[in-house]
Amino acid sequence: MERKYKVGILGATGAVGQKFVEILDGHPWFEVTALAASERSAGKSYREAANWVGSKPIPAHLADKVVQEAKPGIDCDFVFSGLDASVAGDLERDFAQAGYPVISNARNYRMEENVPLLIPEVNPDHTALVEHQQWGNGGFIVTNPNCSTVGLVTALRPLVDTFGVELVQVTTMQAISGAGYPGVPSLDILGNVIPYIGGEEEKMALEPRKLLGTLQNGRVQFADITVSAQCNRVPVLDGHLECVSVRLKQKADAETVRRTFEEWQSPIAGYDLPSSPERLFQVFDDPRYPQTRRHAGLGRGMTVSIGRVRPCEVLDVKFVVLVHNTVRGAAGGAVLNAELLVKQGLLKYREELAAVA
Ligand code: NAP
Repeated sequence: MERKYKVGILGATGAVGQKFVEILDGHPWFEVTALAASERSAGKSYREAANWVGSKPIPAHLADKVVQEAKPGIDCDFVFSGLDASVAGDLERDFAQAGYPVISNARNYRMEENVPLLIPEVNPDHTALVEHQQWGNGGFIVTNPNCSTVGLVTALRPLVDTFGVELVQVTTMQAISGAGYPGVPSLDILGNVIPYIGGEEEKMALEPRKLLGTLQNGRVQFADITVSAQCNRVPVLDGHLECVSVRLKQKADAETVRRTFEEWQSPIAGYDLPSSPERLFQVFDDPRYPQTRRHAGLGRGMTVSIGRVRPCEVLDVKFVVLVHNTVRGAAGGAVLNAELLVKQGLLKYREELAAVA
């Protein structure tokens, strides 16, 4: 790589934005050159504007950097977006129209026909959709899925490839960091479980069908899979645990399914992307595992843990999946998306984009 890509973070002061700052510190391909948020934060130093909740200090070169208003014109080759969904629709559009590639965590464009909903190990070919976007000036938008969907669909991919999947029943236990900062009031969540997360079950029913769909003539043919999701907010900090049952098209016993998780090779296994974990799946045989606090951080938060693979009395096989919601399910997933786009030659330096526009 001739030089690092200059990266802007939209929503840099929020929970996901801070995770971007943390993950991108020392990244071999990307360097943060712009931090942007609302007009409430603009003009303040990053240390003043962000209520920093990271476990390490703010990277020294960014602590005094002045936060800018999230408007096109900021100095970078592309942007990561951790913007609140209430503003992401307009702002991401403005950036794409101004010629910036936007690698987004927000839900706004996920189901647009020409916008890739991307997990690199699941559907790396869907990035071809960006060629059909017409924002002008070389800009485009790529999205990553809802944080619970990421864990579920990554685990389903080997099963879809090997046996086919017809039905999925999933019950989630989702961390409070999934609700951003300050998120769920402590008086609501301490010592409690809330059996409702607005919009989550609908996203978990629909997004897997696009992610596991096939690209045909520049469009995604949605996979014919029915997902029934029940989503719960539980008092843990990070990590979404999901209990999954599946009906397979081609019957297989639990041991064969367990082996399939162990042996499956992701389509990007040889790409050597900086954020790829050494092991995509950590499969546990100890029935007490995976556990949220112990295992959400495996593979720097990018490994998806699987355990308790066993026969299901109602469908065919059931198991437990654990995903780190703010890393693999948000900022880390988006950084991996950007790395894939670089590898595929779709992310360019800004001057190259200007030349083709
Ligand atoms: P958050 O902590 O509430 O942060 C929201 C960010 O948006 C802040 O930086 C805020 O800046 C900025 N913002 C709000 N209004 C703005 C405006 N008018 N103009 C410019 N910037 C504005 O939320 P979050 O949890 O980080 O989530 C960010 C996005 O990622 C959401 O779309 C969410 O659905 C998605 N997501 C979150 C997770 C997760 O695990 N948390 C997982 C996947 C996806 P100020 O500080 O200046 O207000």
